[in-house]
Amino acid sequence: MRAGGAPTTEPMAVPVPASVPPIEVSFPSLAAYAAGNCGIPYAWTFAARRTGPHVLVQGLTHGNEVCGAIALDWLLREGLRPARGTLSVVFANVAAYERFDPGDPFASRCVDEDFNRLWSADVLDGSRESTELRRARALRPLYERVDHLLDLHSMSDPCLPLAMAGRQRKGLALAQALGFPQHIVIDGGHSAGRRRR
Ligand SMILES: [Zn+2]
Repeated sequence: MRAGGAPTTEPMAVPVPASVPPIEVSFPSLAAYAAGNCGIPYAWTFAARRTGPHVLVQGLTHGNEVCGAIALDWLLREGLRPARGTLSVVFANVAAYERFDPGDPFASRCVDEDFNRLWSADVLDGSRESTELRRARALRPLYERVDHLLDLHSMSDPCLPLAMAGRQRKGLALAQALGFPQHIVIDGGHSAGRRRR
């Protein structure tokens, strides 16, 4: 579920709450997932014998939004496999996650720039370099093979869970098909750069 930022549209920079809430959960080590199994670090793909859609579930688009990492760590440890089609599990911005500092949790949202503002061909094919662009370019071939992508974010404000569906009908259809969360936001994207949905 896309949920990084304010309940309606994500601001340019996520505002830091006046008081940083206490960190009440422990974060998983991702060392066991570093190798990946599809030629990309921290990316795992499992194909069933029966044909079906390719679904990718991602966490850590933002390095300090750990709910996705916790969920995907659980999913991999449980050995969940698709009954048909293909399931990919991706820890996106691990470099930022590994810099997490409980005393300054918002600093590890990214290393150089927001991983979720890079998703247009001119940026990806351009000559610019950053930690996030290198990761985006490594993951791009995998993204281009998937039919459905679910990107798990954490909120920086206390609010109800929500899905960010974008303006395309397929995003709304995916959010409605999941049936949770109840609230679905249809917004027009971000002026700072294209997001991956
Ligand atoms: Zn986010």
